[in-house]
Amino acid sequence: MSPLADDLTAPAGPREGCPKRMVFGPCGGVRDDGRCEVAEHACVFLAPPLPRWTGPTLPAPAPRPGGLLDRARTRPVVLADLTVAPFDPASVRSVVGTLAPVSDGLLVGEHQGRPDLPPTLMAQEVLAAGGRPWTTLACRDRNRLVLEQELAGLAAVGVDGVLCVTGDGRRAGARPEVTSVFDLDGTRLTALATALGLSAAVAESPDAPPVPQRPARVAQKQRAGAQLCVLNHVGSAARLTEFLAAARAAGATLPFVAAVAVYTDERSARVLQRFPGLHLDDDQVERVLTAPDTVAAGIEAAVAEARALLAVPGVVGVNLSGLASAHGEETAAAVKAEVATRIREGVA
Ligand code: SF4
Repeated sequence: MSPLADDLTAPAGPREGCPKRMVFGPCGGVRDDGRCEVAEHACVFLAPPLPRWTGPTLPAPAPRPGGLLDRARTRPVVLADLTVAPFDPASVRSVVGTLAPVSDGLLVGEHQGRPDLPPTLMAQEVLAAGGRPWTTLACRDRNRLVLEQELAGLAAVGVDGVLCVTGDGRRAGARPEVTSVFDLDGTRLTALATALGLSAAVAESPDAPPVPQRPARVAQKQRAGAQLCVLNHVGSAARLTEFLAAARAAGATLPFVAAVAVYTDERSARVLQRFPGLHLDDDQVERVLTAPDTVAAGIEAAVAEARALLAVPGVVGVNLSGLASAHGEETAAAVKAEVATRIREGVA
């Protein structure tokens, strides 16, 4: 019998009208005007009440010694997005070799338009190259059985943790022959990961509608097992302070990692600006893009943003997020490594 009993998930079914079949919505992709991320109607979770986690809250697995959560107890941590050439173990080794020595964890992504090695295999490659992977697992492309397989595999290979997400929708025209699954959502996946002894992180988008409900959503995810919340970009440290205070008031006690936008050219900036649910400081973006040396300006802006976000109470680390450079994975890794090094120098 599976250790992943059905009573770990909510008794109610998916909310009618949600294309992602979410029980614990809303997702992070709700448009600024309240429209659904993937369909031409309003998000069906805009009106309160927020769905409450009704399953048990399992005991949190102990953080892996020397891992991100362990390190975060004593100093600010750096979690770097891992951007590699798809299906290319040599690229994984190269990028991990650049980023692992200057970061505390590597966030392995799941991209709707850019498939890659299976999560467990990718985690093995990252570990073999000397990195500490936090593996993003999304519900979009895997049914529940395959999610269970991947969670068991990730536990077996020894990842530092799993970022449990529902997953963004596939953009229009991208692989139209592929079915999106969504047997589970990120909150229920969090409970499954915790049941298997994995440290689970969740994502939240503070400025995506319905904004007033987002802080309480973090608390619900913590009740499902989350030990860490990785936040999407917000426009300022003041806005982040406001969100964390509201999350604490709603009952969330878990630590937060705040997103730092890393971009050094037009393409890497615009990709972040276009992503649903993300809010960047647009004036800052234009200052970087019109600077005489956009690489130096982008690195400087990321370091400054990181320092400001790390000063917010409740923030234990930063996530170096984004493409960083349009000039390939190696260049992007070097940019993030420089940002990470300077952040760590600043907090040593
Ligand atoms: S925005 Fe997300 S949560 Fe809302 S209805 Fe669409 S898919 Fe569902």
